[in-house]
Amino acid sequence: MQQAILISKDQIDILSEHAKKASPNESCAILFGKIEKDHYMVKDVFLTMNIENSPVNFTISNDELIKGYQEAEKRKLDVVGIFHSHPDSEAYPSVTDQKFMEINPVPWVIFSNKSEQFRAYIFESKVEPFDLHVE
Ligand SMILES: [Zn+2]
Repeated sequence: MQQAILISKDQIDILSEHAKKASPNESCAILFGKIEKDHYMVKDVFLTMNIENSPVNFTISNDELIKGYQEAEKRKLDVVGIFHSHPDSEAYPSVTDQKFMEINPVPWVIFSNKSEQFRAYIFESKVEPFDLHVE
């Protein structure tokens, strides 16, 4: 059972930069990597557009989702996480996020532009905090 998601400082910097550029709207990305026995290992981030252009919601277009999954497959990587940012609130999943987390039970990484903090969550019968290790 995976207990944590491991991500590099460089990847964290790419994601926070992406979030700052998208502000005041939410930003989003797909995290590619390997599902190991006891953790998820992020190998690359696939930056996507938030087609909702919204400060409180995000949607990745079907085209980009397909492109993302094809790219992952080509590189023999798995989708190990979903990233999005909260420009004006804490890094805690909204009611909408929780609904989508149940459908996508991979780690969800949320960045708060407000507090500049990253947090991870996962759906395991309910939404739970998940260990995010930056290395
Ligand atoms: Zn959210």
